[in-house]
Amino acid sequence: MSGGNPVMIELRDVHKNYGDYRALRGISAAIRPGEFFSLLGPSGCGKTTLLRTIAGFEAISSGAVLIDGKDMAAVPPNLRPANMVFQSYAIFPHLSVMQNVAFGLRRDARPASEKQRLAAEALEMVGLKDFERRSTQALSGGQRQRVALARALVLKPKVLLLDEPLSALDKKMREQMQLELIRLQKQVGITFVLVTHDQEEALIMSNRIAVMFDGEIAQLDSPEMLYRRPNSRRVAEFVGTMNFVAAQVASEAGGKIEADAQGFGRVTLDTGQVAGGLSTGQPSIGFRPETLSILLEGQKAADREAHATVVDVLYYGGLTYYDVMLDGASQPVRLSVRNAFGRPVLEAGARTRVAWSPGALTLFC
Ligand code: ADP
Ligand code: MG
Repeated sequence: MSGGNPVMIELRDVHKNYGDYRALRGISAAIRPGEFFSLLGPSGCGKTTLLRTIAGFEAISSGAVLIDGKDMAAVPPNLRPANMVFQSYAIFPHLSVMQNVAFGLRRDARPASEKQRLAAEALEMVGLKDFERRSTQALSGGQRQRVALARALVLKPKVLLLDEPLSALDKKMREQMQLELIRLQKQVGITFVLVTHDQEEALIMSNRIAVMFDGEIAQLDSPEMLYRRPNSRRVAEFVGTMNFVAAQVASEAGGKIEADAQGFGRVTLDTGQVAGGLSTGQPSIGFRPETLSILLEGQKAADREAHATVVDVLYYGGLTYYDVMLDGASQPVRLSVRNAFGRPVLEAGARTRVAWSPGALTLFC
């Protein structure tokens, strides 16, 4: 499909200016063939702009966009091996489901019967096998989005660009479509580039994620690395929940860093646990809510333990969030505990012990 090219989309120092406004500020990335790649970032960070430069709807100010090894500078959108599914999926209400999908083939010279066959195949891919003759008006939001997907897939592009395709759906339908998109992407083997502002969606669906802020990629990593080792406080706060406590670096030698962290005391970290340069700014220690655990009475800590008071309890059924004040700390931190049958849920005000491991901590500078 890619002719053995190890890179499907290459972005080389892409800049896009709107007058004085720098919407894209030097984007470089290599997206692999068959990869499910996501662009994740807050509204206005340049995700749609970047997607449109790949599709060719937007000319770049400098840099280069290559698809399957070819520079796209002189290639108009309709001749690029990429197709886009828009945020507000433009379904034609006066056309049937089949006609909507076949619209994707309007510039194709194949005979009508062949187009019908291709459209039917695309509809089957998105789970709308028996919907061909239906009017689009009778469809649910999720079904409309599938029609838009089928229309984009019918041309068998090498790259499918999806701009927040699920944002208009309710939570249940969105979760179902997320799983279907994963399945579909595996089935067709096409490179998917998904734009989303929903960090959970990006974590669930992607092979790799580029986190964007202010027209730049802040971190490009696998979901697991992004979650476990965010490279800045800003990324850590955008992807998942991260607790921060004030810290002071005491010493650095032989690949080990000694730091004093509020509520934890003296901790020893590897250099791999440091995000950002050691000498900059006011350091803090960060950790995810599930990396500290609440000890039951009589339970021994596997690693270290600290004493704390429960400040707030948020019961979610499957898990409980506890805001606890570690002794000696000035601000509560949030812990999550997976609930198990028979395990008591603590109440606000309770004294407790928490277990923690230095390996789960990240020092942000
Ligand atoms: P996102 O998709 O991440 O929400 P966009 O890529 O749509 O962000 O926009 C990035 C920034 O570029 C925004 O500040 C937006 O206002 C600006 N922008 C986008 N398109 C245009 C345009 N055609 N003219 C001027 N500014 C634009
Ligand atoms: Mg957008």
